[in-house]
Amino acid sequence: MFLTISTTGTPERPATDLGYLLHKHPDKAQTFSTSHGTAQVFYPEASAERCTAALLLEVDPVALVRRGKGKGRGGAPDAALAQYVNDRPYAASSLLSVAMTTVFKSALNGVCRAMPERAGEPLPLRIEVPALPARGGAELVHKLFAPLGWTRVDAVAVPLDEQFPEWGDSRYVRLVLEGELRLADALRQLYVLLPVLDDAKHYWVAPDEVDKLLRAGEGWLAGHPEQKLITSRYLSRRWGLTRQAMERLELVRLAESDDLEVESVDNAVDETTDTEEKPVPLAERRREAILEALRAAGAARVLDLGCGQGQLVQALLKDVRFTEIVGVDVSMRALTVAARRLKLDRMGERQAGRITLRQGALTYTDKQLKGYDAAVLSEVVEHLDLPRLPALEYAVFGSARPRTVLVTTPNVEYNVRWETLPAGHVRHSDHRFEWTREEFRDWSGQVAARHGYTVEFVPVGPEDPEVGPPTQMAVFTMTTAQETTKEAKAA
Ligand code: SAH
Repeated sequence: MFLTISTTGTPERPATDLGYLLHKHPDKAQTFSTSHGTAQVFYPEASAERCTAALLLEVDPVALVRRGKGKGRGGAPDAALAQYVNDRPYAASSLLSVAMTTVFKSALNGVCRAMPERAGEPLPLRIEVPALPARGGAELVHKLFAPLGWTRVDAVAVPLDEQFPEWGDSRYVRLVLEGELRLADALRQLYVLLPVLDDAKHYWVAPDEVDKLLRAGEGWLAGHPEQKLITSRYLSRRWGLTRQAMERLELVRLAESDDLEVESVDNAVDETTDTEEKPVPLAERRREAILEALRAAGAARVLDLGCGQGQLVQALLKDVRFTEIVGVDVSMRALTVAARRLKLDRMGERQAGRITLRQGALTYTDKQLKGYDAAVLSEVVEHLDLPRLPALEYAVFGSARPRTVLVTTPNVEYNVRWETLPAGHVRHSDHRFEWTREEFRDWSGQVAARHGYTVEFVPVGPEDPEVGPPTQMAVFTMTTAQETTKEAKAA
């Protein structure tokens, strides 16, 4: 199995910098032992103008078969002869991916201490894999790599035998990729897509493969047009894992689009307030309305579901009546910002003891969310696709079941009053829907009836006589009868 990575350069930015980025010196040939054989890295050419690093993996087919034994299904074919005569030693496949993690670990992670800024920059790259097993042929190779920023994607079928062209093509292609990409991105794409094209994983898929896939897919897999095929093949078509990965990718996509965008309308100053007063941004008014409702409900232990970057958590922390505050969000990035905003690392023990930040998807039930006084869903529901909403409804109202639930969401009728918002547009490109007052009342009423809550509505922001307030809030309260049965059951 053989893969080359080339780049070009100038005297000021020599191509041999590739050696730093790969953490492998161009003057040395290096050998690594991997779990399936020996990997070698060497540089067929290394000048300021052009530099090529080659990764050669020599697989020990016998060791491979031995390792494969007793592991259920795997790439090592079952027939006795095929165990010893298989293409693994010659073809680029998942074994090459595994070798890449051993040999190019730092480069895959985009880490380069010697040249941190170059690791973050796109380079002119050329990648070549002379014999790549590709189920789905050249056509699939194009579909997989073309959306990823490569300017040239060449996949040429390798004939079975050059002397006998009438035998037709083998299942191998010669792959050439060219484009300006960050080295880490290119390597992570190969790490995932080589085994996807091979479509014969050599080991049993463990549940942590989903994590590995999401890590390697960061920045390019969420939103890839062939995301489903990639995910399903990578996880050896195990449907449960594939679905889990697809769901998480969807959330990553949501969270990324959310993080990248400024909620411009939301933060816009509300023009209609009294000019004497300092105008208050809508986001702040929303937090005030939430705090007021939580105090009125007498809540002390509060869940902030979809807490984002932690603004509400911060406000809750300032009021000592809130003794326990749990922020949950699917976006690790948002949670990192939240932890920084709260200065969690420098907080005294007692303050820190009041806060928990957790990563979690609200469309899954979670035992740890049971037993709280109140839950807040501030500007969250509209980020879910409507068909996923019942899952969130069940997780919050059916499973976690806090006494009070506050849900805020934009009132779409008010959008005509935002000067900066073109007609017919939602307020944020990631909003899957925005409801009229009637639609929100409808949904809330049904939820309350299904789960034993009563519901009241509170306008947030200046209420327009025609179109209502910019934000609508529903305050759900568990009916006493329900609470009593719950207590009776617990007793
Ligand atoms: N509550 C905050 C943030 C709202 S933005 C505020 O009022 O300002 C919506 C947030 O919901 C984002 O941080 C997003 O990552 C999170 N989110 C969206 N869908 C989610 C899901 N299914 N599970 C958990 N969090 C989700």
